[in-house]
Amino acid sequence: MSAFAQQLICWHKQHGRHGLPWQGSRDPYAVWLSEIMLQQTQVSSVIPYYRRFLGSFPDIAALAAAEGDEVLAHWSGLGYYSRARNLHRAAQIMAEQHAGEFPREFEHIQALPGIGRSTAAAISAFAFGARRAILDGNVKRVLARYLAVAGYPGEKKVEDLLWRHAEALLPENGIEIYTQALMDLGATLCKRGKPECASCPVSADCIARQQGRQGVFPQPRPRKSLPEKATTMLLFMRQGEIFLEKRPPAGIWGGLWSFPESDGTEDAQRQGEMRFGFESGPPEPAPVMRHVFTHFRLHIQPLLINVRRIRPGARQQDGVWLTVDDAMEVAIPTPVRKLLAGLGRPERKGLS
Ligand code: SF4
Repeated sequence: MSAFAQQLICWHKQHGRHGLPWQGSRDPYAVWLSEIMLQQTQVSSVIPYYRRFLGSFPDIAALAAAEGDEVLAHWSGLGYYSRARNLHRAAQIMAEQHAGEFPREFEHIQALPGIGRSTAAAISAFAFGARRAILDGNVKRVLARYLAVAGYPGEKKVEDLLWRHAEALLPENGIEIYTQALMDLGATLCKRGKPECASCPVSADCIARQQGRQGVFPQPRPRKSLPEKATTMLLFMRQGEIFLEKRPPAGIWGGLWSFPESDGTEDAQRQGEMRFGFESGPPEPAPVMRHVFTHFRLHIQPLLINVRRIRPGARQQDGVWLTVDDAMEVAIPTPVRKLLAGLGRPERKGLS
């Protein structure tokens, strides 16, 4: 066994993270759910979502049979909603093509929507004890430092090299503990900002540490400025309720509930009024909010608008009036959640 694997396994017994709700389960469904939720999200944020999700959808059959809206509502606030849509779709594929069972073969696992090579490896290791290497963002950082791998890990040739290292370091036995230990090292000691090398079990052989260059590895993504986009969100309010419409299934926030939007190039309020048959008072602009996506920055101008009358026969297809409290319970993107929270503040109540 590599010294790296041996030291990690030893360290994990005393210092690794134990007692997390998904640990100790070999149920591939629960393992899969936890792995998907933990992508881009911290353990402490995941735990309540994980419990609630499993409570409502305890197995593949329950998830496959659920309504898309219901699944998204359980994800509301976790972000990266394609994860929830892919979970739902993958459960339906398992129901249709795998007799409702979670597939055991690595290739079949990796073929499911939303499951990449590293996630498939983690599921295979934790649920089936398969000897597979993982390489998520945390592990890339650990290996890049431990072996002083130059270059940005998002680049194919750097990533390929890291995969080869990850595979070469695998132990013959104890794959579950090793995999968990590697994840824990990245999350708790070999952190992005300030690695705690003095407590690290592999510090003796870590090249970055020997060279005092922990801050150099891994090399960050080459800087390029993100494009800027702008939108106007129309917060139509009437008799204590707020108007939300369902976004189209594809594109950003696909299938979530949001405020009607206008690109802001023309009279945004008038556009919204015409679409939904509203007659309303003058808009009150709220402070501009900025939301950063992976590929662009969005500047959101919220307009608070009191609806005085809805024209008879007006169609509000894909739209719904909800109280702020009820709106907080449906699947909504983070900026909409923040705006709704602002509406709940006492000084805003007069507007509703
Ligand atoms: S010694 Fe420091 S930089 Fe190297 S793996 Fe450990 S925590 Fe990371």
